[in-house]
Amino acid sequence: MFDYLIVGAGFAGSVLAERLANGSDKKILICDKRLHIAGNAYDFYNDEGILIHKYGPHIFHTNSAEVFDYLSNFTEWRSYEHRVLASVDGMLVPMPINLDTINKLYGLNLTAFEVEKFFESLAEKRDQIRTSEDVVVSKVGRELYEKFFKNYTRKQWGLDPSELDASVTARVPTRTNRDDRYFTDSLQAMPKHGYTRMFEKMLDNPNIKIMLNCDYRAIINQISFKEMIYTGPVDAFFDYRYGKLPYRSLEFKHESHDTERFQSAPVVNYPNEQAYTRITEFKYLTGQEHKKTSVVYEFPKAEGDPYYPIPRKENADIYAKYKVLAEARSDVHFVGRLATYKYYNMDQIVAQALMTYGKIVGMKRKEATIKTKPLEKSLVTTTILNNVSVASSKSASQTS
Ligand code: FAD
Ligand code: UDP
Repeated sequence: MFDYLIVGAGFAGSVLAERLANGSDKKILICDKRLHIAGNAYDFYNDEGILIHKYGPHIFHTNSAEVFDYLSNFTEWRSYEHRVLASVDGMLVPMPINLDTINKLYGLNLTAFEVEKFFESLAEKRDQIRTSEDVVVSKVGRELYEKFFKNYTRKQWGLDPSELDASVTARVPTRTNRDDRYFTDSLQAMPKHGYTRMFEKMLDNPNIKIMLNCDYRAIINQISFKEMIYTGPVDAFFDYRYGKLPYRSLEFKHESHDTERFQSAPVVNYPNEQAYTRITEFKYLTGQEHKKTSVVYEFPKAEGDPYYPIPRKENADIYAKYKVLAEARSDVHFVGRLATYKYYNMDQIVAQALMTYGKIVGMKRKEATIKTKPLEKSLVTTTILNNVSVASSKSASQTS
């Protein structure tokens, strides 16, 4: 008998598995329908021997010392501040828009003070900032909005910015100084040996059994457990009772090149001319030295794996109905980006999972993270039951 069946081995599921096993001595079965742990943060060495992110670039950044300290139990870090260039009007300019972006784009030599006035002269007044169009147009005006945001957003989401909540483009600030970092969080770093290695350490406990290539529906009637933690799409859990919740998908095109450097920045955004939104060159993120290099192109699409909840009122209304169903299930905890339909970054998911653990065991989140068993104590290698059939899943529960 397992104490918990955890559906999904991404950040949400793995943090909870780790906390419940190491912090509360619970017996866990964690399953994922994919062939690997780490969810969308999964990374691996490709045929060239280059560490790449299967599901697009994952850059860790947070303002929460608590989240950072918690993850530091399972990884060392490599200091890394992310930078992005945007391909606009045949030039590569810093994104987020900053003083250098404007000077380069318009051949000017403005100071920070002057660029502030420049933005003010272009900004369109808005009584209320409701949509993703309002956010940008009210700060920098229509022309810059059209060059940098309008087409990128249409491509990424299949919607006009005016149809999306303000929170989407508000993720990207506008600056009057020369700061060209993509994020300004106080803690910015990459797991030194990659995300997957960090997840392996989190799940390294004899009380955690892992089943990959396994949809929970295939085993749910074959195993016994007390409670469930569900991190998959919430609408699927309830058999789409209130209709499908839209999630945006992506197609990733990975390529390797016989050159040390492919592009002049870790990420280049292509708002306008291309079908893809951005190209990422992984060696910048990982710091790996290699005579070849690997990149990924992201092509947004409607169908496929659900990667992004789509923040807009219509969808929030559908989610609100599923949330009522979810809250009525006292035997199931819904956690993570897909199960709570929130456009959350990794650190927010870790915080949400720690909060859920705190709730389950009746502790405040802060206390919940401190009770980590020293890592040295869990010496036994994690049991990974790969390619399991339903029949063999029975033995997983019997051996537990
Ligand atoms: P997931 O990682 O999606 O894990 C859920 C798991 O559940 C999946 O592995 C899935 O296979 C499994 N599952 C679903 N249904 C079932 C089922 N029926 N049975 C069994 N298993 C099931 N965040 C950042 O902080 N920085 C970034 O730079 C960043 N970049 C991103 C880039 C892209 C392209 C994307 C898509 C996301 C990015 N994110 C980034 C967000 C980050 O990926 C998420 O915040 C985080 O991975 C969410 O973790 P999760 O556990 O909620 O979900
Ligand atoms: N965005 C844009 N142009 C850009 C970068 C971002 O229009 O060059 C908008 C777009 O709508 C995007 C959102 O801002 O989806 C958030 O960008 P972010 O880089 O945070 O997206 P993510 O990394 O989550 O895909």
